[in-house]
Amino acid sequence: GIRTAVSPFRSTLRELQQRYRDLQDGRVADYIPELATADPAWFGIAVAGAADGQLFEAGNCEQEFTIQSISKPFVFGLALEDHGREAVAARVGVEPTGDAFNSIIKLDEGSHRPHNPMVNAGAIATAALIKGDTHVERLNRLLDMFGRYIGRRPKVDVAVFASERQTGHRNRSIAHLLLNFGMLPPNVEEVLDLYFQQCSILVTTRDLAMMAATLANGGVNPVTGVRALQAEYVQDLLSIMYTCGMYDYAGQWAYDVGLPAKSGVSGGVMTVVPGRMGMAVFSPPLDSHGNSVRGVAVCRELSQRFGLHCFGSA
Ligand code: GLN
Repeated sequence: GIRTAVSPFRSTLRELQQRYRDLQDGRVADYIPELATADPAWFGIAVAGAADGQLFEAGNCEQEFTIQSISKPFVFGLALEDHGREAVAARVGVEPTGDAFNSIIKLDEGSHRPHNPMVNAGAIATAALIKGDTHVERLNRLLDMFGRYIGRRPKVDVAVFASERQTGHRNRSIAHLLLNFGMLPPNVEEVLDLYFQQCSILVTTRDLAMMAATLANGGVNPVTGVRALQAEYVQDLLSIMYTCGMYDYAGQWAYDVGLPAKSGVSGGVMTVVPGRMGMAVFSPPLDSHGNSVRGVAVCRELSQRFGLHCFGSA
């Protein structure tokens, strides 16, 4: 495990942080205006052990940013707990799309069921499944759930939430198209608010590493000992993260890195090494798929150096 290799591991993170700092490719997302205020130089790498939550960090691991799409597998987990596999499967599938994360095009074909919970259409359908009598109750259940993974109840960044709510016309079209097909309840605006709020939850690189470590530890936060997800659903989350977590780069990622992962447009990448550790990188400049440039580069190198590919022989 990583415990026996403590010091080489820590120095590797520092070395990667220093080397990939010079990688200047990619662009900070600005389609949500508030995200454009991010500093392209922010760059953190954190790893948390699955057994004990021991942290290894380099760079800006305490800088807060909004979780964005990295929220999607976790909300999917709560939907599974609320309804079970069969009822969730009626609303959202598990097939990769090969399209961009915000694509609307395939919704107009076939069953009108969103392909998977990692693209926006599927994530909006998933948000609609969260139980609660009122919007506030549903939001509180989401925040409590994220709190169990992180070890502290997170807050919503109100400025990012307002910014996306005001400019989220594409997500609004997706939601209304789903409503048209009977795939969403009539309270579409509330569902969208919940989706925008889940995306606006503030986390740090360290938090993401702990969330990943919790999944790596079978759904139990290794520091607090609190169960964040029923054990039977951990495999559901990891499977869709493996096949769909990196959008239309998921195939290349599975081939090169070989680990379940999830990225978000604010620049986070979270990777799970089942039974061993959670890894997280934060760096806002994105590639054409919407994945963090430095995040992809660092995870690829960590996987190769430590032989973490799930089908590797190392
Ligand atoms: N809130 C963002 C959106 O819906 C999330 C997308 C992402 O992180 N890829 O567009």
